[in-house]
Amino acid sequence: MASKVCVVGAGVVGLSTATHLQEQCPDAHITIIADKFTVDTTSDGAAGIFRPGSSFRCATSEITRQCLDDSFYHYRKFLDDEAEAIRAGIKWISGYQLSSKYPGIVRNAYLESVLDEFRPCTKEELEIYPGDWKYGSFYKTILIENRRYLPYLTEKFKSRGGVIEQHCLESLDELGKDFDVICNCSGFGARELCNDITVLPMRGQVFKVNAPWVKNFLYVDYDTYILPGFSSITLGGCRQYDSWNAEVNKYDSAAIWERCTSILPSLEKAEIVKEWVGWRPYRYCVRIEKENFPTKNGNTLKVVHNYGHGGYGVLSAPGTAKYAVNLIQDFLPTTSVPLSKL
Ligand SMILES: Cc1cc2nc3c(=O)[nH]c(=O)nc-3n(C[C@H](O)[C@H](O)[C@H](O)COP(=O)(O)OP(=O)(O)OC[C@H]3O[C@@H](n4cnc5c(N)ncnc54)[C@H](O)[C@@H]3O)c2cc1C
Repeated sequence: MASKVCVVGAGVVGLSTATHLQEQCPDAHITIIADKFTVDTTSDGAAGIFRPGSSFRCATSEITRQCLDDSFYHYRKFLDDEAEAIRAGIKWISGYQLSSKYPGIVRNAYLESVLDEFRPCTKEELEIYPGDWKYGSFYKTILIENRRYLPYLTEKFKSRGGVIEQHCLESLDELGKDFDVICNCSGFGARELCNDITVLPMRGQVFKVNAPWVKNFLYVDYDTYILPGFSSITLGGCRQYDSWNAEVNKYDSAAIWERCTSILPSLEKAEIVKEWVGWRPYRYCVRIEKENFPTKNGNTLKVVHNYGHGGYGVLSAPGTAKYAVNLIQDFLPTTSVPLSKL
């Protein structure tokens, strides 16, 4: 009999896991259960730049590196087919990272090891943008816009026979009778669903604006960023640790607007599409592990966790999904033949 797997969560992590699982276990019946989809998820608001910070961590440095590599080359492969990449919301993006204070902040050991173009700014480049910029890097990386990528993955999942149900779970116990394995990709929801109080909100606030003349990204001191996507440009930002405010804060708005327009004055003319607040699902390390999860009535459920990606869930979703799917396969009674090997 075919195995039944439930993926909890329809953000970028849940959808990446469910679609990768379909490829590795084509015989499995896979259901996604979530209370929020596409535009209502945290994933939707993320700018989606591939720029891992040093706080992105999995259980070991080897797993961290593997997840980043698998993710980078997954997205990189899309860019070989321009039409498909555009459909999925994936593109190359070039830009500058500048600092008036810290030489270290404009370096990125991971990106320097995988990108074809990552170099120090010339003296002339440091003078392009207003400000007292002493240090800078120019690089070309990848941007994944979830406004397109989440619907793309959803379609792929459904076209392969995947089932989607909208439901707010109070507990993973509710799923026990119906599924052989549960994969918990509930992001911040994991705090309640598996009582993990180490998951904390890292609050972010951004503007989404129309300014089609802006082509390059800019990252400067104090979490200031200008990131052009396909449908809008994201202006940010802030990283407020353990902040539970889900509303737009007018003082954050003023500070973000001032910082972004002072480095790129033409943004004063940009049309504001909306302001948005999201909670990055921060955890000291991404939790990707198997658990025999104890239920209230004394049974156990086979659960694979995949949550706590903080500010790096878009860029790391394919690699962490691959790692989680290997663990799901350990739990499944029979190993089916991956699509790629048929
Ligand atoms: C301002 C901001 C900018 C960011 N920029 C970037 C960036 O440039 N690059 C990058 O890589 N990352 C970025 N991030 C981080 C990224 O958005 C997150 O890491 C990522 O979205 C996490 O994805 P997820 O699928 O784990 O969570 P989510 O998108 O939150 O999805 C969680 C899913 O679980 C479901 N769920 C939760 N609890 C329950 C329940 N009890 N019952 C049923 N369903 C449940 C939800 O409905 C949802 O479908 C940014 C985040 C913010 C806030």
